[in-house]
Amino acid sequence: MSETPICSAKGCRADAVWVLAWNNPKIHTPERRKTWIACEEHREHLSQFLGVRGFLKDVVPLREWEDSAADR
Ligand SMILES: [Zn+2]
Repeated sequence: MSETPICSAKGCRADAVWVLAWNNPKIHTPERRKTWIACEEHREHLSQFLGVRGFLKDVVPLREWEDSAADR
């Protein structure tokens, strides 16, 4: 990746360190994963946003996510 990914939270410019993998069963097939990335500060906030809707599938460290993506 050419530049450091930035947190998905609105207005946040911090480096992202977490990946939130989510799926909206109304519009996505079950295997599909959408991702948001979050800094340390916003991980909880974004997780809750997805969690209350039942969309959140996984929260993994960004480095781990990139490693597993490279394996595929
Ligand atoms: Zn943030």
